Amino acid sequence: MLDFLNPIKGFGVTFGTMFRKKTTEFYPEEKKQVAPRYHGRHQLNRHPDGLEKCIGCELCAWACPADAIYVEGADNTEEERYSPGERYGRVYQINYLRCIFCGLCIEACPTRALTMTNEYEMADDTREKLIYEKQDLLGPLTEGMAVPPHPMYPGTTEKDYYLGEVTEADPSQFTEVDSDTDPEGAEATDEVDATGRPAAEVIE
Ligand code: SF4
Ligand code: SF4
Repeated sequence: MLDFLNPIKGFGVTFGTMFRKKTTEFYPEEKKQVAPRYHGRHQLNRHPDGLEKCIGCELCAWACPADAIYVEGADNTEEERYSPGERYGRVYQINYLRCIFCGLCIEACPTRALTMTNEYEMADDTREKLIYEKQDLLGPLTEGMAVPPHPMYPGTTEKDYYLGEVTEADPSQFTEVDSDTDPEGAEATDEVDATGRPAAEVIE
C-alpha cells in the first residue's frame, strides 16, 4: 500500500466511529455493574458466631506475586480468642498500591478466610490510605455474631467450625465480650496514624 494513503485510512477509522452507537456512562451517579466474579477489594471473613476465619498462616502473603500482603500471626488464649484453633491473624495488611487483583492470595487461603468483593471504588488521595489494615478488611458482624474475642461455641472443636456445624453464636459467647473492643473486632486504641486508623506496622 502506498504510504501517502495512510492518513486517509486513519480518518476512515474516525469517520466510521462517528456513526456507531454511543455508550455513555453516568458514573459516579450510576455505579457500573461488574461481573459476579469481579476481583475487587478483599474481605476477611468470619465464622457464623463472629470468630475470624484467618489463622495467620501467611500462605496468602507467600502466594502474592506483588508482595502486597503482610501478615503477623499470634496465639489465641482461653482468655482472648479471635479464631477457632491455635492461631489468628494479629496484623493483616494489604497494600493496594502494589496489588494487581490477580486473586492468587484467595486461592492459597486454606480456610476461605480471604475472598474478594465486587467493590472497586478504592481511589484515595494519600499512599497511607491505600494500605488497608485488618479492621478495614474484616467482614461486618451480622445478626447472630458476637464480637471477638470470645470463646468457641460450647462443646465444639475447630473441626466443627470447618464442617459448618456452628451456625450462630451461643448466648454464653456474648457475655464474654470485652467492652474495650470496638464493633469491628479491632482492639481499641488511642494511637492513630495519618489516615485516622489505629496505628499499626506498615509494609515498606
Ligand atoms: S490479588 Fe494478587 S496481587 Fe493482590 S494481594 Fe492477592 S495475590 Fe497479591
Ligand atoms: S487470609 Fe488465609 S492464607 Fe492468609 S493468613 Fe489468613 S488464613 Fe492464612
